[in-house]
Amino acid sequence: MQNKREIHADRIVIKIGTSTLIHNNSQPNMHVIERLAYVLSSLKKAGKEVVLVSSGAIGVGMGVLGLKERPFKISKQQAVSSVGQTELIQLYNQALHKNDMVAAQMLLTRDITDYPESHTNVMNTFQELLEIPNAIPIINENDSVTVSEMDHHTKFGDNDQLSAIVANLINADLLIMLSDIDGFYNGNPKKESTVKYDTVHAINEEIIGAAGGHGSKYGTGGMTTKLKAAKLILKHHQQMILADGKEPDIVLNILAGDNVGTLFSETD
Ligand code: ADP
Repeated sequence: MQNKREIHADRIVIKIGTSTLIHNNSQPNMHVIERLAYVLSSLKKAGKEVVLVSSGAIGVGMGVLGLKERPFKISKQQAVSSVGQTELIQLYNQALHKNDMVAAQMLLTRDITDYPESHTNVMNTFQELLEIPNAIPIINENDSVTVSEMDHHTKFGDNDQLSAIVANLINADLLIMLSDIDGFYNGNPKKESTVKYDTVHAINEEIIGAAGGHGSKYGTGGMTTKLKAAKLILKHHQQMILADGKEPDIVLNILAGDNVGTLFSETD
């Protein structure tokens, strides 16, 4: 195992998962939000281009509305998500303000890849936002309007894939995926004794088999959706690192080349 990695990343997409952002009682993890805001701001001030893809809208909404269980009905989930999204952005914004930054919310649908005009518009918005010295784009799927029908699909599926699509679109140097686990293992580490992969070069059958089934109570996709994201990243010859986000300062370690998490990359 190498001690240092060669990481050269100026344009970075960071994705944070629900299980990292939300406590088990549906309350947002303010430590994570505060430190994430600090890290994003520090990177921006250091001249990096950063974009955050944040999950957590439904989880935060459940907390605000006092719901114990995630609603089953899709329309109810969409309503809870819209409550949670507002609250979440407000929390990020307050934390960013302390670092002289502001949040720029972008709620996207798959139209950005399917319709040329939508694609042009979103690319122009990214371009402008990345040039604003104190704006941090925070992205989520636009839950209340996306559909998944026979001839019309505007859902991204999940935020893991959304973050990879965004990284592809803006040609990011690195996608950092912050989860509640410190990397990708050869089986579910919460259930069996497993070994962490340092680097994954290709999403082959062995790797897919290791992803197993589902994630945590609040998270949605487990490793399956993260591997789909990794596949998109590798297809575009980009890099992704999956790491534990409970201390978001880990992003600074990753960018310093510390050997943390699991690197998905064609090369070492
Ligand atoms: P997030 O909310 O960050 O998107 P999830 O809860 O959906 O995260 O997925 C992370 C969980 O996936 C881990 O906590 C772990 O229990 C589970 N998991 C299943 N298989 C693996 C594996 N091979 N390596 C790492 N974690 C795994």
